[in-house]
Amino acid sequence: MTKIGFIGLGIMGGPMAANLVEAGFEVTGYNRGRAKVDRLVAAGGKGAGSVAEAVRDADVVMTMLPDSPDVRAIVLGADGVLAHASPDALLIDCSTIRPDVSREIATRTRALDAPVSGGEQGAIDGTLSIMVGGAATDFAAAEPILNAVGCTVVHVGAAGAGQTVKAANQLIVAGTIELVAEALVFLEAHDVDTAAAIVVLAGGLAGNRILDRKAAAMVDRAFTPGFRVELHHKDLGIVQAAAREAGVTIPLGALVAQLMGTLVAQGDGGLDHGALIKLVTQLSGRE
Ligand code: NAD
Repeated sequence: MTKIGFIGLGIMGGPMAANLVEAGFEVTGYNRGRAKVDRLVAAGGKGAGSVAEAVRDADVVMTMLPDSPDVRAIVLGADGVLAHASPDALLIDCSTIRPDVSREIATRTRALDAPVSGGEQGAIDGTLSIMVGGAATDFAAAEPILNAVGCTVVHVGAAGAGQTVKAANQLIVAGTIELVAEALVFLEAHDVDTAAAIVVLAGGLAGNRILDRKAAAMVDRAFTPGFRVELHHKDLGIVQAAAREAGVTIPLGALVAQLMGTLVAQGDGGLDHGALIKLVTQLSGRE
């Protein structure tokens, strides 16, 4: 049986680790603060009080942490994964971080970057899309594990390529949320029945997953995350840096990055990213 050490049991990591337990893997979880570890134990996993304890006996180490510095500290830090895991262990980092940090980690250990898309519901349902960068042999070894948490698991290239594809994903998602937000505020201003409009829009060429999954909550101004604005702000920073590095111009991406940054500056970083509608409402003088 494959033993998995799982670090970062938050909105995404918690249900992903629980699904791995459900699939029959032996999962030892670690998170800052005991409550999230206890939740995994209640789901049939094992709890660890440190990174060392989580990874000591692991064949595979998975990380699902907020940002590049968190992954760097947990993996490369003095008391981190590399210091305590077996040299043969495979690291699968599912966090969304900078591609160059993923590449740096891959020079130090056997590692895949495997960021995910599909949101909290996708993590709970085990239906995530997972874009994987790294060696083909490591991808083959990781596939049974990734298939337990995702439905669309694709090897997209060498180390860092998973993060580059995820950056493109975050560009599309942010831009789409912004356009859905603008359309909804526009419909409200015209006193149209937004619920009826969402149904018909979703059936035509304008149909998209944001309309299907997020528009109703956006109309209700219900912003419990989900995916926090501050994390999407981080991701749009990654997108902009990567676009600049490649010499690619992304005018709409740059604009939506400014809008996401405005929400953070206004103290709304903890809200779901559907809160872009809050900003459109405010900019339209309709609060
Ligand atoms: P989260 O903040 O809910 O989870 C992160 C967890 O890591 C938290 O429980 C936190 O306590 C823990 N943590 C942070 N630093 C730690 C440390 N040093 N030691 C131990 N534990 C530590 O965030 P999330 O929404 O689960 O997102 C995790 C990653 O997945 C991010 O990179 C995010 O961009 C990405 N992501 C999120 C979603 C989503 O919808 N929430 C979707 C796709 C990808």
